[in-house]
Amino acid sequence: MSETASLRDTLLYQKKNGYDALSSAETVAMNEYCEGYKAYLDAGKTEREACRETVRLAEEAGFVAYTGQVLQPGDRVYAVNNDRYCILMIAGAAPLSEGFRLSVAHIDSPRLDLKSVPVYEDSDLCLLKTHYYGGIRKYQWVATPLAMHGTVTLRDGSRVEICIGEEEGDPVFTITDLLPHLAQEQGRKPLADAYNGENLNVLAGSLPYADEDSDRIRMTFLSLLHSTYGITERDLITAEISLVPAGHARDVGLDRSLIGAYGQDDRVCGYAALRALLDLEGTPDNNLICILADKEEIGSEGISGMQSQFFDAFVRRVCHAAGVCADGCIAKSLCLSADVAAAYDPNFPEAFEKRNSALANCGVALVKFTGARGKSGSSDASSELFARIAAIMDEAGVVWQSGELGRVDLGGGGTVAKYVANRNIPTIDVGTPVLSMHAPFEVTGKLDCYMTFKAFDAFNRAK
Ligand code: MN
Ligand code: MN
Repeated sequence: MSETASLRDTLLYQKKNGYDALSSAETVAMNEYCEGYKAYLDAGKTEREACRETVRLAEEAGFVAYTGQVLQPGDRVYAVNNDRYCILMIAGAAPLSEGFRLSVAHIDSPRLDLKSVPVYEDSDLCLLKTHYYGGIRKYQWVATPLAMHGTVTLRDGSRVEICIGEEEGDPVFTITDLLPHLAQEQGRKPLADAYNGENLNVLAGSLPYADEDSDRIRMTFLSLLHSTYGITERDLITAEISLVPAGHARDVGLDRSLIGAYGQDDRVCGYAALRALLDLEGTPDNNLICILADKEEIGSEGISGMQSQFFDAFVRRVCHAAGVCADGCIAKSLCLSADVAAAYDPNFPEAFEKRNSALANCGVALVKFTGARGKSGSSDASSELFARIAAIMDEAGVVWQSGELGRVDLGGGGTVAKYVANRNIPTIDVGTPVLSMHAPFEVTGKLDCYMTFKAFDAFNRAK
């Protein structure tokens, strides 16, 4: 009997619930980690805020802004691009010619951005025009409280930070939805057509401004913005203002084993990669870099996306100071490119191929390839790299599983992995399984969040 059992264990791969192997000490560490993660989510609901919080935590842990100096083993530095893309580095005992261990994630999330001229009134209501950012399912964003986060840059270059709707007692905003009594026509439409982007108009007020004949409701909204923040409608044209789901990260389930929050894609991996560097004591053997990039949700384009030259310039600068060839350093580097994985959802079995899907609580997913329609858009990690990373995880007791995004040809998606791999760096996708990905309230398993952190830590420490 026991011989058969061990033969089964040897021959068969079976996903295992990570809790079966979790010690009580690890359970304590996991819960502590998840409290820190929830606080990180609450502090950073936009890439700017996440970047600011990252720098705050980094400075608290002894990191200093990089200014071109020669780095000594153990030195901790960071660099920030445009307030929304962070690189953190710990110089290891190994020379830079041995390359970096790179942990990459993104800190932007799908949301609704205000258009440049957003404010209008209709039927005595004040409304705001939006243009969504990233892949949202529009029906999920109506009839739910929204908070306003943003940055307004004034003519003189000074900036005004806006955050309304997160504090207890703050007003919130919302997008109205049709009542079921009158929704028969809408209800017969395909889900993707039932709501359109131009109808995602945010309700922002209804009081008429006294002593005005026209634009009375719009005037009230703008006068309040002006009295609170000193900004005008002209300033909104050049501003960046987003609507995100209001409220804090919460425990989900009576056993509190899950986390529900906005923006876990991909701050769940971003925080894990960050924490792995922050918590590292002393001088690591490897040179470590953590990249938290912006604009992944719209193609990693632009100055703050993973396709920008910011990372390359940082590496060149660090290598130049040390008298090391940057190309050689890059060629010896390795990368874990982290982005959330689609967790198998028992409500939608038809969307998944269960055998190859990531399951909640079965650990961080190691993903050989992403992409769509025949792996298009994927960098596809090599067997050699995958085996090496999997061995590192096993060695460190990291609970991991394989994961593929849903069933073949249903859809698909990409990550920043290819942009790192294109730079001649062996790269594999890893990620935390997420339920309701891109929804205003995404759900992760605490065990999987913690294992994502442990995966980065193991990768950073491994020979
Ligand atoms: Mn993502
Ligand atoms: Mn995403």
